Amino acid sequence: MTVFENALSTHTGIALSVEELPTGCAIINNPRLNKGMAFTLEERDVLNLRGLLPPRIYAQDDQMQRILRRVRDLASPLDQFVYLMALHNRNETLFYRTIIENLEELMPIIYTPTVGYACQKYGHIFQDPQGIYLSAADKGDIKNLLQNWPIKDVRVIVVTDGERILGLGDLGAFGMGIPVGKLSLYTACAGVLPDHCLPVLLDVGTNNQKLLDDPFYTGLPQARLTGEAYDALVEEFIQAVQALYPHALVQFEDFANHNAFRMLEKYQDRICSFNDDIQGTGSVALAGLYAALRISRKSIAEQKVLFMGAGEAGMGIAHMICTAMIAEGMSETEALKRCWFVDSRGLVIAGRDGLNKHKALYAHEHPPAESFLQAVHDLKPTAIIGVSGQAGSFTSEVLEAMATYHERPVIFALSNPTSKAECTAEQAYKHTEGRAIFASGSPFAPVDYKGRQFVPGQGNNAYIFPGVGLGVIAAQSTRVTDQMFFIAAKTLSEQVSETDLEKGRIYPALSSIRAVSLQIAVAVAQLAYEQGLASAAKPDDLLADIQQRMYEPHYRSYV
Ligand code: NAD
Repeated sequence: MTVFENALSTHTGIALSVEELPTGCAIINNPRLNKGMAFTLEERDVLNLRGLLPPRIYAQDDQMQRILRRVRDLASPLDQFVYLMALHNRNETLFYRTIIENLEELMPIIYTPTVGYACQKYGHIFQDPQGIYLSAADKGDIKNLLQNWPIKDVRVIVVTDGERILGLGDLGAFGMGIPVGKLSLYTACAGVLPDHCLPVLLDVGTNNQKLLDDPFYTGLPQARLTGEAYDALVEEFIQAVQALYPHALVQFEDFANHNAFRMLEKYQDRICSFNDDIQGTGSVALAGLYAALRISRKSIAEQKVLFMGAGEAGMGIAHMICTAMIAEGMSETEALKRCWFVDSRGLVIAGRDGLNKHKALYAHEHPPAESFLQAVHDLKPTAIIGVSGQAGSFTSEVLEAMATYHERPVIFALSNPTSKAECTAEQAYKHTEGRAIFASGSPFAPVDYKGRQFVPGQGNNAYIFPGVGLGVIAAQSTRVTDQMFFIAAKTLSEQVSETDLEKGRIYPALSSIRAVSLQIAVAVAQLAYEQGLASAAKPDDLLADIQQRMYEPHYRSYV
């Protein structure tokens, strides 16, 4: 049984009468209809399941406990990932019930950091395609291939070309784990229907020699397409999406820097699309900063931010911070001056050779700095944000310097996975005498320091993109705007409770993420109506309308 068959029968299955339901092995092997040992006696009778299942009947709750026990028994996160993916392919409802009720524990397995390790081995642990692969060899035929996907009402597509998977670089076709994982989060965190989700891997080759030498590499064994050939394939894909799924939102994910900005600029005003690494990251980091300011009792206008890393994430965050400063009355010129960057060539300053147009915006008059530490001493930023993929680059000296200059220094070590973080949570608290307001990209456990427990926030994009997507789908917005990410950041920061802040946590608990996503969806949909972008009729009660669209992972009764 493959996802293709599953999707087909499930999608139509929602409206099927009992007589039309598949029976026997066909229903057990259909993950969207399957209930495993939760089929009741009556259902087993009607659906010809007697004898095909062990006699005992379990409630979904008991099934979930068994799954959790098994996950906890498995020692390696990669084995846990494989086990959960197998569950996804076997019993989707149980998969989502288990994930939704245990997000804090399981999100690090189905998403970062474990998904990163899984992508590195994707061909070796391959079980089921779970999405659609469109390759350079299919040029001219992309629309036909997309038509093989059995569901015609696709509303969200997450697409990657696998060139910059998390902080791990070019993983080519092994990058499929990312669209699959992100779309599971759309469903788990915001209740977007699984039927509406389509993961896409654009296989344009890979320049990763290790993968090309790997006999189990699943992608095209060739160098990456570049230039016009690359652009033409992406364009063909976009046109096919427009023709087949005119209401679909396209999320560009984990494209390398040189393509990510170009694709965003090319498509954001043409189709309903966004780049999560740039815009989603900008939004979640701004939300963290807003919440941090509630702790330090400072205003956004007082902030000066130094970034380590001037790529997609850094630029996206700086853009959002500037948007926030401008919204509070600062001029654009002044807002840009509040953001500084260090990249692999040092401090980004006016007159430096070879600056691209994004970095040039933030290239201010200043002498070169010989190190990140020097830049901290020179600029005395209120916040440092690590988005460089350089593990350990927030050294003890950097952290101590931040603590010297500010009572509550903001330290965001956002590089993923955990092994790439600029510093650990423990280092951040220890080297600032517990005064840092810390967040990371991948999760860190709570830290006990001098008799106090600190709960580090995880600046996970999952706080933003599922809610934004749900709002865009509900309003059938024709575009995704920067303003939507700005309003999403504000809404998210308002969901952080005083109790969270007391523990140093600047994001709400993951256990409340569905409620948070709902609030974001309402704010985004409302904005789509105000901006004249919504094509769906406006319901009287937006919140109630969106809430009733959200997927709930409960079994249906078949009798
Ligand atoms: P990118 O490739 O676009 O940018 C990386 C940047 O780091 C480049 O500007 C590069 O010059 C710089 N860099 C590399 N080596 C450096 C060094 N030694 N010193 C200073 N700068 C250096 O990548 P990206 O999309 O911006 O992602 C960067 C990191 O941020 C990744 O690890 C990614 O996982 C993480 N990220 C986290 C979140 C989140 O936490 N929510 C979201 C997006 C990205």
